[in-house]
Parts: sequence; structure tokens; C-alpha cells
Amino acid sequence: MSIGAGSQRARAFSMPLVLTLLLTGGLLWARQALKDPIDHIATMVSTGAPPPRASDAGLGRVMPPPQQLGGSGDYTFMMSNGRGPAAYDPCRPLHVVVNHEQAPAGADQLVADAVAQVSAASGLAIVMDGPTDELAADSRPTVDRTRYGNRWSPVLIAWTTHARDARLGDAVGIGGSQVLEAPDGRLWNITGTIHLDGPAMSEILARPDGPQRATAVIVHELVHVVGLGHAAGDGQLMTVDGSGRTTLGDGDLRGLAELANVPCNTVF
Ligand SMILES: [Zn+2]
Repeated sequence: MSIGAGSQRARAFSMPLVLTLLLTGGLLWARQALKDPIDHIATMVSTGAPPPRASDAGLGRVMPPPQQLGGSGDYTFMMSNGRGPAAYDPCRPLHVVVNHEQAPAGADQLVADAVAQVSAASGLAIVMDGPTDELAADSRPTVDRTRYGNRWSPVLIAWTTHARDARLGDAVGIGGSQVLEAPDGRLWNITGTIHLDGPAMSEILARPDGPQRATAVIVHELVHVVGLGHAAGDGQLMTVDGSGRTTLGDGDLRGLAELANVPCNTVF
């Protein structure tokens, strides 16, 4: 899907605005609800002048790109335009922090397992920066100098509840990134957010295959963050309900490989 690619796209510098795109995911894993849980939200928030290019951003890929695979499974991008999909810079580490407010036992291992899967499949070097006191909220600054210094905010994984994010009443997890358009028109993910329903994940973890299911929810949301939307067909982890999978499908993997096929972001 090509969400938010309409007339109001922000352009960096000349119009310092950012598009925020969040997709819900994982509903059927915990709630067995029948209604369509897709919830696309594209909002524009002010970000001011971009921070300087990150000190750990290089001029070559940090990791080799993932292998291009075959298969017929489908995938979609969270956002794209004629220059390609919105993606993270493959030439710098993608930093992640975790808020543990409602984290179930073993949460850090679940996140570590999910991060390893998504890093391998996306070719992004995902670095865990540790815990944060930043709580889940309706919106967050793209730059939080007090907490994180003069750089793009790291991706936030927040273990929380529907008390902080009402959408978690229906979904187990919500994931998405904030997108900035460079002057050349290319779309860049600059930071992202995942909200995970801690109590619902505890229910999932109580099942015999709980850890695999819970990890799959986190993988699904992380893949939203790095840039894939929901697959329309069946059989992919990135379908709305995950297709009962606990691993990435062929379409998911091809989509992630396509996302990796971007140059270095040397703009911001
Ligand atoms: Zn989803």
C-alpha cells in the first residue's frame, strides 16, 4: 500500500514536517476478534531543523544486503513513491531502546530474538541501546535532546497497556515509523515506535508455543517499523493475522530485501 503518499507530503528543510505512519498488527494472536484490525494513521508533525548526520553513519552498508530470494508470496510497503519505498539508512546502525513499564518476564530475550531475525532479513544493523524511561505516548519527538542527544530519537519499543494506547484494546502490537522526504524526493524512515500490550503478551506466553508466538508478534511489528505494510495474500507473517506463522514468509523476506536495496542516506 502507498499510504500518505498524497498531496500533503512533507519536504525536508523547505517544510520541516514529518509523516507519521502507524499500523496495528497481531490482533488475532490474542483477541480472536473478527473485525479488520488495520489501522493506518498518517499524521504530520513539526520536527524543526534536522539534527546533524549521525556520527556512526558511514558511506557504505554496515551489513551486506540480504540475499534476494524467490517465491510468490506478496508484500507491501508502508509508504513509497516514485523514488522507492520509505526505508532506514543501511549505512548506519538502527538504534533501539526499550521501556519496560509492563514488560512480561523474559521480555528482553523475546525482543533480542525478534531483533536478530529482522536484522538478518533486512540487512540492518539493529543495536540495542538499553532501557529508557520514555513511556508509550500518542506521539513522540523525532529528536529528544534531553533523553537521547542531538540525533534522531532511537526506535522505541514500549511494553505498555491500552491505558496508554487505546488501540491496544484490539491489537497486541502497533508498529510504524516516522518518514521524512529528502530534497531529492526519497523517503527516509528516521525513527519508529512499537507499542506492545504487556498483559496480552503474558497471556500469549502462557500457551505451549507462547515464546515463539510472542516473538512473532514483535517481529511483525519490527517489520512494520523497517517498512513493510500488510501482505494482501495469505501465508505471510505480515498478513493482518500473521497467517499462523512464527517465522517470516517468502513474501516477507523478498519485501525486506527490496527495502534493503536503497543507497546510503547522506542527507540527514
Ligand atoms: Zn500488522
